[in-house]
Parts: sequence; C-alpha cells; structure tokens
Amino acid sequence: MLGRRELFAGAIALAAERFLAASGNRSSFAAPRLATDPFALGVASGEPVTDGFVLWTRAVGLDRDVRLGYEIAHDEGFRAIARTGTVTAAAARGGAAHLEVRGLPAGRPWFYRFHLGGAVSRVGRTATLPANPTRLRLALTSCQHWEHGWFSAYRDMIGEGVEAVLQVGDYIYEKSFGNGPDVRSFGSPDPVTLDDYRARHALYRSDADLSAAHAAMPFIVAFDDHEVENDYAGDQGGVTADRAAFLRRRAAAWQAYFEHMPLRPSALRAGGGLQLYRRFHWGRLATVHMLDTRQYRSPQPCPSGKRGGQIVLDCDAVRDPAATVLGKRQEAWLDRGLAREKSIWSLVTQQTIFSRLALPQAPDARYSDIWDGYEAARQRATASLSRPAVRNAVLLGGDVHSFWLNNIRADFGDPASKVIASEVVTSCLASRNGPAALFDTARALNPHVRFLDNAHAGYVLLDIVPDRIDIDLRAVASLADPAARCFSLARRTIADRRPGFD
Ligand code: FE
Ligand code: CA
Repeated sequence: MLGRRELFAGAIALAAERFLAASGNRSSFAAPRLATDPFALGVASGEPVTDGFVLWTRAVGLDRDVRLGYEIAHDEGFRAIARTGTVTAAAARGGAAHLEVRGLPAGRPWFYRFHLGGAVSRVGRTATLPANPTRLRLALTSCQHWEHGWFSAYRDMIGEGVEAVLQVGDYIYEKSFGNGPDVRSFGSPDPVTLDDYRARHALYRSDADLSAAHAAMPFIVAFDDHEVENDYAGDQGGVTADRAAFLRRRAAAWQAYFEHMPLRPSALRAGGGLQLYRRFHWGRLATVHMLDTRQYRSPQPCPSGKRGGQIVLDCDAVRDPAATVLGKRQEAWLDRGLAREKSIWSLVTQQTIFSRLALPQAPDARYSDIWDGYEAARQRATASLSRPAVRNAVLLGGDVHSFWLNNIRADFGDPASKVIASEVVTSCLASRNGPAALFDTARALNPHVRFLDNAHAGYVLLDIVPDRIDIDLRAVASLADPAARCFSLARRTIADRRPGFD
C-alpha cells in the first residue's frame, strides 16, 4: 500500500491542484501548511446501499475548515476514476469528513482516497450492495478493549473476505479494568471532554489492524455503553451521579463517536443525539435491522445503592410494562419493519443478549443491564419477531464477552413453547471473558442456550444463502500475541424456516 501510495502521490498532488482551482474557492480553501500527515487516522466506509455508501476520514492537525479532495475509482490503481470532488472537513467536527455518495452502479467494488495539498490518504476499498444477491458474508463483532488484547481478529476478517462488519458496540472503552495482564495502556485518564474522547478514538485508529479493517471493509456500527461510560441508560449515568455532568460527558462522547464513524452526516441530530437505528437491504436475501438499545432505554430496574447493571433477585420492576429498551418510536419502527418484511432472513442486530439468562442465585435472578431487566419490552419485541411476514428471525448481539447460540422461545419459562427465532451472540473481539460465577451454570439453568463458550475472544462469521446461514465462531488463538491467528471454535447452521439450534 505504501509503495503504491508513493507512486501515485505526485499525480494526486496535481489532481488536487486541479480540484482546488476548479472549485472556485481557492482563496477560502487555500492549501494549509501540513506539519503532520493529516490522514494519520486512516479512512473508512459504511452505510452501504445499492447505489452508494458513506466515505469517512478525519483530517488531524488543522485548526480551521478545509476542503479535502476525494477520488472514487473502479480499480485500486485509480486508472479508471468514477468520481472526484471535494468534501468539507470542519474544525468544529474535529476535521471529520462524512461524504455520502449516491448514484453508482450496484454490486461493485470501489476504491477511494482523500487528499489535501500534497498529502494523500491510504486507499480504502468498499462496495455498493448488489440488487439481488444470492449469498452474503457478514462479520459480527463487539467489545474491543485496547488494553486487554491485540485486534488480530480483524486480520482474519479481512482474509475471510467479509462484505460488511456489524460492530454492535463497545467500540472503545472509556476505562481500564485493572483486573489482569494488559498488552498496552491507554496512557491517559478516563475521557470526559470532547478532546478526551477524540484522543481515545484517535488512539484506537492508530492500531494497524483496526485501521486496515476500516480501509478494507464497510462497517455498520451502533454504540453500546462504553463509548460513553459503563452501564449508562438513556439520560441516566452509569458512573457519573450528577445528571448535568453526565449529560455533558454523553454529549462529548456521542459527538466524538460520530466524528470517527462512517455514518451519514444526517446521523448527528440537532439535539446531539445519534440516529443509529436503521435498515440495510441485501435484496430479498437479508435485511439487517440495526437497533440502538442504549440511547432511549429506561434506567435499569431495581437499583440497590449501586449504579448501573446488577444482579436482581426478586423484583417486580423487571416486568414493568412502562420500561423500555428501544424507546416508543424505535419499538414501533421495528414492529412496522418486521410486519412488512420482504427478506428471507431478518437479522435483528443489537447490542446485548436477548434471551433469558437465569442465574444461580435465585429462581428469578437476572442481570438488570440486559434484556432480562426489561421483561415486558422483550415480550413486545418477541411479538414483533413473530409477525407473519417474518420468515426467519435471527437476533445478533454481543456485550457479554462470550459466544452464545440460543433458541428464542415464545415463553422462556416453558421449554415446550415454540422456538420463534435464533440468537447468535459474539464474544469480545479483545477483552476478558464474562464472569464465570454467572455463566458456568448457564447451560444447566437455561435449556434454550444451545452453545456457550466463555473462554475465547473473537468474532462471528455469517455465511448467508437463501436456504441457510452457516455460522463460524472465530476464536483468537491468543490476545497477547500481536501475530495471533483465528481458528474455528465451532460451526453451526440455521436452516430456512427452522429457527434455533439442535
Ligand atoms: Fe463490553
Ligand atoms: Ca456493553
């Protein structure tokens, strides 16, 4: 990549001059003096549709708005250029550029790069979605703790030819855990301000594997809690007790998240919220219904002095019909989408574990930060998954730092009730595994749990064709070895019209 980049740098500098001249804005966007590589954070793509996508970069080291040139080509050598133009990198957005591209032919790979003055970004590869594909390969990932492990799993993903990465949260961590060996350090205190969160995201993009993954594949992202602070719920802090202080921290964290993700410019709402629930369509084959289970949820039920998620033993509030995970609008949006579903596979993609997870402490014991803390909301979502238009519902999630394959039953309390959906939960990409005290008994106490591994990090590879989904749980051989490879921990299949796992 570097050799190619040097080779084309001269041609690009000339092209950049041409763009600046042609834009007529040469004086207001005069090429800045560059002390460092403005494209040190790399490039990314996301939000794929049949005729376009979003391209991202963030120009660093600049103190004013600049215009970045961009090129989109059919080939990696940029001989057959399809599009050129400029996009604003605004200082108020930390130099982030979110370029929404439309009007391209469907189902093709595209190569792109940005430039500023004589500086050229690395080359990114992305693709427009095919109009009616018969196969699709996705990766599901969550929970990447900088200190806990190398991000080697991304090399495996690139090697496997993944078409899109579903990153369902804990993209960054805001804190150290201090509970085991670390491979590297954040080197800074927990972020609080916008500059702090920008620095944390920038640190993440200095990871060669993560940066290469963004350049190689489109990411479809939605945050969970650690992008702000542990176990927050809507407008209630999970750590920060003072409400005004929490809302300031959340606003800073959300803006920094937006600035670093390949999201549509319109994802950042006027009030500072992010529009993260949305759909992606692979023709009639599959629809990803990406959910946001963090931004609109009501506080975890049954608090007992401690903030955030906790084990609750016997507490009626877990069945409060007024409690919500998705919020009213998103709940209605999900139900409408599933009621009108046209795809063979409905991939309902969200942050955590959806299935009931009975704990050993008491018959009704549950962890309050997952769907278990919101029983009535889960029942409503289950009713939506059961809509007649839904042929195959598959829940995809993460958060619990362990691999799970579950049968979602109409009534988890009745092992004879109908299986209405399959659930695939990915482990952490790089972090410690889940609490053994809670998970060691999970299979015995929860007959709907058909597979559980709480000993590996990794990600999930999903091969989707009309008559089945082949699932490959990819485990990282060692988080401590930066050259580690992945291996197949287990393979399972979901058959068309046969929800669940044997
Ligand atoms: Fe996590
Ligand atoms: Ca989480």
